[in-house]
Amino acid sequence: MDFNEGAQLDTSQVSDQRSGGGGMGGLGGIAVGGGGLGIVGLLVVLLFNVLGGGGSGSGASGLNNILNGSSNGAVGADNTELKNECKTGADANKDETCANVAVINSVQAFWAQYFAGSGKKYTQAKTVFFRGSTSTGCGQATTAVGPFYCPADKFVYIDLGFYDDLRNQLGAKGGRFAEAYVLAHEYGHHIQDLIGTIAKVDASGDREGPTSQSVRLELQADCFAGVWAHGASGPGKLINNITQTDIADGLDAASAVGDDRIQQESQGKVNQETWTHGSSAQRQKWFTAGYQGGRIESCDTFSGGI
Ligand SMILES: [Zn+2]
Repeated sequence: MDFNEGAQLDTSQVSDQRSGGGGMGGLGGIAVGGGGLGIVGLLVVLLFNVLGGGGSGSGASGLNNILNGSSNGAVGADNTELKNECKTGADANKDETCANVAVINSVQAFWAQYFAGSGKKYTQAKTVFFRGSTSTGCGQATTAVGPFYCPADKFVYIDLGFYDDLRNQLGAKGGRFAEAYVLAHEYGHHIQDLIGTIAKVDASGDREGPTSQSVRLELQADCFAGVWAHGASGPGKLINNITQTDIADGLDAASAVGDDRIQQESQGKVNQETWTHGSSAQRQKWFTAGYQGGRIESCDTFSGGI
């Protein structure tokens, strides 16, 4: 994957809080006990604790944070460095952080155009770059949670150090497109939020198990990442090309964050009844379905077998 050298990057789609040092510490009870390896595996715990509202202390504190106005993703942001360093596609080709900005720009440009094609309006979501811990509309979060989308404030959150964990702890090969897959998956959740799927899944209360609504939601986010990859590159776009090697890196990352693989590595056994995201094979399958089909309709993970 390489970026169009002359294309302008839009750093306003990122809220850079890396120097702010959240410093509040702790997860507020949200994700501790989720089992060591943070990552996407804990996203839904976080997401559903907040959305569920009932009985969960973290849900209440998330709400309080919103009410206090203290958890807005723009708080503590300083985009000056990002703005100075990440100006064009050429910068994205040289610098990993700028490449992340470029991917965010690409993903949002893609979905804006996709929505426009069916007469709908896409609402942008910013990504918050943080380090250590951060206050969010979904409560306090630390790096250990892994990247996540918070429906309450509509931000994607990522500590860019996660990419090291993806390689060193989860055993992924990494690479620029592995990072793109992670971001595109999180924006897949934003799409699901916009089209009402997250609300439906939350209302179902079906949060664990091999064919749970939660797993179906996560696999669809993988599929939406594939839909973006299908349409992301070409003349006039921010990304010049996505190669088969890139797709292989994306599939490798998808495999690394499969529930079965994470459970095997962290607990030494696999328990399907606690799955929230789907197996390695399923995550690869649905990314591929989106990549080959190129349309939201290619991503019906809610009816039939998955
Ligand atoms: Zn997810």
